[in-house]
Amino acid sequence: MKRILVVEDEASIREMVALNLKMHGMEAVEAESAEQALELLAKSEPCDAALLDVMLPGMNGFSLCEEIRKKDDAIGIIIVSAKGQEIDKIRGLSLGADDYITKPFSVSELLARLDALCRRVTRAPAAESAGHLESGAFVLDKSSRTFSKNGQSIDLTQVEFQIMELFFENVGIALEREKILKGVWGENYFGDVKIVDVNIRRLRMKIEEEPSNPKHILTVWGYGYRWN
Ligand code: CA
Repeated sequence: MKRILVVEDEASIREMVALNLKMHGMEAVEAESAEQALELLAKSEPCDAALLDVMLPGMNGFSLCEEIRKKDDAIGIIIVSAKGQEIDKIRGLSLGADDYITKPFSVSELLARLDALCRRVTRAPAAESAGHLESGAFVLDKSSRTFSKNGQSIDLTQVEFQIMELFFENVGIALEREKILKGVWGENYFGDVKIVDVNIRRLRMKIEEEPSNPKHILTVWGYGYRWN
């Protein structure tokens, strides 16, 4: 059963979400503040995904996202923002979130996104995905889900790892942003392709010598990206 952390200070929303998760066959772990969420995460078994409201008393959802990511690369994180402001979305994604949803949201949309996220975020590596891929100084190991450069391990989120998998399986081939979106986020993802750009930016920060002058993840203008 998937364990989902729900961080929301408004009790009515939190309870409604928790109830719907349970009816959907998921376990809901509720927290009314970021501080409480961190406490719960520290002492309980890991969650598969987390829904983080941005506006919280005390520490806000963005800082919470950063804190969670420092300790856990595998958890899937959805930022719940009250406003559909682009700046909020980009900020959340650049802090390590995998997806965002804006309030008010429909329960069916939330569950669809959570399902898609949980499919992507698998803590236990699947046996059939065992494989060791190399490209230049980089090594991607599917069975241990590790990524390294010149023998130095680089921590990637599950989404970043899946983007790298796609690149490694298509070395030198220009990939359309929509193809990356569908390949990583799933056929039924109804978010924006900008999420691809934000993740690429994050990946470049992690793997390129000079992120502003990338040598490996190249931009194919008006189309997408190519691994070199
Ligand atoms: Ca709130």
